[in-house]
Amino acid sequence: MINNINVIAFDADDTLWVNEPYFRETEEQFCLLLEDFLPGHSTAKELYRTEIANLPLYGYGIKGFMLSMIETILTVTEHKASPEVISKAIELGKAMLNKPIELLEGVEDALKALHGKYKLVVATKGDLLDQERKLEKSGLAHYFHHIEIMSDKREKDYAKLIRHLDCKPEEFVMVGNSLKSDILPVLAIGGHGVHIPYHTTWLHEAVEHTIEHPQFYPLETISEFTVKLNA
Ligand SMILES: [Mg+2]
Repeated sequence: MINNINVIAFDADDTLWVNEPYFRETEEQFCLLLEDFLPGHSTAKELYRTEIANLPLYGYGIKGFMLSMIETILTVTEHKASPEVISKAIELGKAMLNKPIELLEGVEDALKALHGKYKLVVATKGDLLDQERKLEKSGLAHYFHHIEIMSDKREKDYAKLIRHLDCKPEEFVMVGNSLKSDILPVLAIGGHGVHIPYHTTWLHEAVEHTIEHPQFYPLETISEFTVKLNA
């Protein structure tokens, strides 16, 4: 049982709705665009390298991913790519931005059960406009007291959010699919972390070691979480 909780913060991508599979699908199509120049797995590697190098400049989200696709095209083709290839990469990115929102199983029921009993918050990384649009499309916005779109999810970012919400770290629980971004920094500042894994996780979010902590709750589904809270 998780006791004395005041604020429940939810990660959005791959916690409330499907996200990572869209990136993986797009990456596959992107690799096909460049198959005349490089085998797919090498293109994927180069794209990942470019994305990570660009993270400090662009942050997380689809727009940064699009710029990294374009840069990868130029690198892989040694600037010999036709403008059509670049235009196709832009189309791939725009298609991602226009995807419908697919809620994960049990999400809406869990929010219904928790709403009114706890202060519910969304804490997500990504582009401001894109995340606002996704929240709007999801139909879930009315469950939340506050939406925090964060440029990063480090300890100091969570500490700032918790201060802003006027709660104590021990009254704060973060629910998310990424151990690296949603759980470890929250545990480090005294909060609770509920990990609900998703079948696909971006390589950058991977954590190698196992976590043992009294305020860490590894679960399988979001419905289990409401049971843990006795909601
Ligand atoms: Mg996530």
